[in-house]
This record gives sequence, C-alpha cells and structure tokens, in this order.
Amino acid sequence: METPTSPSPGFEPTPYWHTTVAPITEPADHPLPERADVVIVGGGYTGCTAALQLARSGARVVLLEANTLGWGASSRNGGIVHPGLQWGRAALQRRFGERLGGELFRDGVQAFFTAERFITEEGFAADYRRCGMGVAAWSASHLGGLEEELAELTSVGLTGRMVRGGDVRQELGSSFYPGAMIVEESGMVNPAKYMAGLGGAVLAAGVDVHVRTRALGIDVAGPERIVRTARGIVRAGAVLIATNGYTDGTVPWIQRRLLPIGSYIIATEPMSESVAASISPRGRVSFDTKSFLFYWHVNAERRLIFGGRASFRPTSVAETARILRTAMLQVYPQAGGLAITHAWGGNVGFTFDRLPHLGEHDGIHYAMGYCGTGVTLGTMFGLRMGRLLGRSTEVADEPLAFERTPFPAAPGWGGVYRGNPWFLPAVGEVFRAGDWWKRNGPRFLGGSR
Ligand SMILES: Cc1cc2nc3c(=O)[nH]c(=O)nc-3n(C[C@H](O)[C@H](O)[C@H](O)COP(=O)(O)OP(=O)(O)OC[C@H]3O[C@@H](n4cnc5c(N)ncnc54)[C@H](O)[C@@H]3O)c2cc1C
Repeated sequence: METPTSPSPGFEPTPYWHTTVAPITEPADHPLPERADVVIVGGGYTGCTAALQLARSGARVVLLEANTLGWGASSRNGGIVHPGLQWGRAALQRRFGERLGGELFRDGVQAFFTAERFITEEGFAADYRRCGMGVAAWSASHLGGLEEELAELTSVGLTGRMVRGGDVRQELGSSFYPGAMIVEESGMVNPAKYMAGLGGAVLAAGVDVHVRTRALGIDVAGPERIVRTARGIVRAGAVLIATNGYTDGTVPWIQRRLLPIGSYIIATEPMSESVAASISPRGRVSFDTKSFLFYWHVNAERRLIFGGRASFRPTSVAETARILRTAMLQVYPQAGGLAITHAWGGNVGFTFDRLPHLGEHDGIHYAMGYCGTGVTLGTMFGLRMGRLLGRSTEVADEPLAFERTPFPAAPGWGGVYRGNPWFLPAVGEVFRAGDWWKRNGPRFLGGSR
C-alpha cells in the first residue's frame, strides 16, 4: 500500500496543547520593583519551580519572562516524563570517575521521581499518568546498548524488560522496530496543563511576575546584581537564568554554552477506540534510538502526538509536518486515515557535552541544557535552585551531582560560537547519514537488519 506523504491541508500551526487549557491569567503590566531577593529570568518549568520554592520560603521574587509564562518549550513539548540522561552510567563513569559518574546517573533517574511527585503532590490537573515507556531500537545494532541501559536502570530499582520481534507490536503497536526496552517508571503529562497549574501556583505564592519583559543584561557589583530591562532595572541579591533553548545574549558566557535545536510535533484528530488499541495497545509513551529521534504517544483525547527532530536546517512548520507525517505512517500505517489537526515546533536546549548544567558563574546562577529531558530535569533543577538561593532550611536538601561538573563551551571553534549554531545543518546531515547507515547498512552489505 502506498503511504500518502503530504499532510492534510488545514492543520493549525500552533501547539495542540494550547487548545486544552485556558491561558494563564497573568498580571497586567505594572512597574518593576526597585529591589528583590532573587530575580529569575525565564518563565518555564525551571524558572517557575524555582520561583515557587523561593516564594514559599519567604523570599521576594521577581520573575521576568520575555513573552508569556510557559511560552517556551514548557507548554509545547512532547509530555514524556522519563528517567535518565543522554548517557548511561558506564559512559558517565568513564568520563567522570566511578563516584561522580554514578551520582550523575542516580540524579538523572531521580529526576523522574522528583517531577512525578511534584506534579501529583501539587495537585495540578495535568492529565499525568504513569504509563511506562518503550524505547524502540532503530536498528538491531542498537539492541545491545538498550540491554545495557536496562541493566543499569534495573540495578537502581527500576522495572523493565526487553521485547523483540512480534512482542514489540504487543507493546508499542508497531512492527517497524526490531526490539524495544520497556521501563515502567515513566509517564505522560499534558505539558501546557502542567505549565498552567505551575504558573497559577507561582502567582498564588506571591511571585512578582512581569511578562513581556526581557532581561537585557546583568551587572554584578559586589553582593548586588542589577538586571536591566527596557522597562527599568531591578536590584537583587541573586539572579537565576532559566532560559534553556531560548537563551539569548543576556549573559554571553551562558549563551556560548547553549545550543538551541528545533524539535517538532504533529497531532492527529482523535481516533476510534479500535485504532487507538492497535496503535497504543498498552498506552505507553515511546521514543526511538536514532539521532533524528521520533517520540510519540496517544493522549487522553486519543490523538496521536508524534514528534521528532525533523530537521537541523532552518525550516517551516509545514515542511516538518510533512516529514513527521511520513515518518508517523512508516511506524504506524494504521494512522493513514487520520487528519493532522496541529503542527508546531520549539527549541530544545542542548549543551556541548549533552548533559544538563546548573551552577554559578561570575555571580550569576543558571539551570539549563536538558537536551530534551526538561520535564523532569527542569523541574528538579528549578526546585533545587529555589532551595539553594532561598537558603531554605525547611526542606532537607543535598546538592545535585550536576553541580560538580564543568559547563563546557564548544570544543575547537568554541571561541567562534556566539549562540548562532551555523554548523548544525552540516552536523545534522552527518547524523542523518549515520541513522540511515545503522538501519540500512547491514542490509545494504547483504546482512539482515
Ligand atoms: C517540541 C519539543 C518537545 C519536547 N519534548 C519533551 C518531552 O517529551 N519530555 C521532556 O522531558 N522534555 C521535552 N522537551 C524539552 C522540555 O520541554 C524543556 O527542556 C523544558 O520545557 C525546559 O523548560 P525551561 O523552563 O528550562 O525553559 P523554557 O520552557 O523553554 O522557558 C524559557 C523561557 O525563557 C524566556 N526567555 C528567554 N530569554 C529571556 C530573557 N532575556 N528575558 C526574559 N525571558 C527570557 C523565553 O521566553 C521562555 O519562555 C521538548 C522540547 C520541545 C521544544
């Protein structure tokens, strides 16, 4: 059967999630205060969890958001809530030594439990459910790596198993992948509903929120930080930069360490119960192991939410929707009759060591670089920063292992990088070729996939 390759006309080029929740009622523009204990720059999960934690410990917090609360990745992501980092424990230990590597791995797993607990204990009506995840092997050569990852995850108490061949269809509803790792400790959330609940809590806690107010620069003068905006300045004892994939030149040192990479999503119209049972027999969230990864789930409304790094080149939502629909139909030919109703994109904040970072540089704090895992890590880092900057004693808290790793700039030509990743199209082509070769190379050479 020939698979159609162009999306149905008429999809909305906006995040589907935005249609599921009322916009956060934000305060009207009002004057900036002269002084605060802490100024937070960026109003997504990181900035808002930090602000909430700080306000609840009695700090005077000003939150500056260039657009509106949650405007960045936090209201437009894939909603997958999962443990782990881009690297497994063995790789982290090779790089950072047995102890720190092990602790980084542990914290990466712990981030899932922190975020899950936070979302449920705060009582956000965010459609969160623990559903388990499937990580699908793009090629048979990825199965060994997944087995090692599973062994590492189960060694710290997680529950999972490998499935192969026909069993992949039983779990993920697709015959496209040769195998998959299933891990039960994962979930899905409606990201915009999470953001709406969080934004509401931040306002209720008394955080002084200023939307449409971009931080333009920060001067550090002894114990004082002076944050400049087009609407005036705010003086504070501490500043947290929480701008992740939307980091601009407010703090050039940080901008040189962050790589914004586009990720894109399509949403289908709601499907029948029988099609949903065939596409998502166990209701898992899933992603695959290639560099240009795909990620997907069937949501509470029985829409297939299918995302991926469709392109590393400057592109359009229409073009990425076309690419993603073709991919979706390769994985799920059963979705052929479903119209695409929404298509959108956003920036993922990558770093040059593919690890998240939080810490302080020249008197300015930062928390970012989640490399596509910011629902969990952004929540954990924001809460940690809130406790650190508030010096709150009400919650027993330990530093995260991530506070002990350096935040590297670009290797080699690092001095040249100023936040405009001109090299990404070329890097993307190398990744794309690598993906193609890993899946097709053995067959090309006469072997089996
Ligand atoms: C399409 C897509 C799918 C994703 N899927 C997943 C997923 O399934 N699971 C997962 O864990 N993660 C996912 N992610 C990543 C996750 O969404 C992010 O890591 C997370 O939302 C980061 O939150 P944040 O608060 O740090 O940054 P953001 O939510 O991006 O917020 C940063 C904010 O900073 C503001 N800002 C920037 N500069 C300034 C300035 N100078 N002054 C004031 N404000 C400023 C921006 O306007 C923005 O609102 C996805 C990301 C995208 C784009």
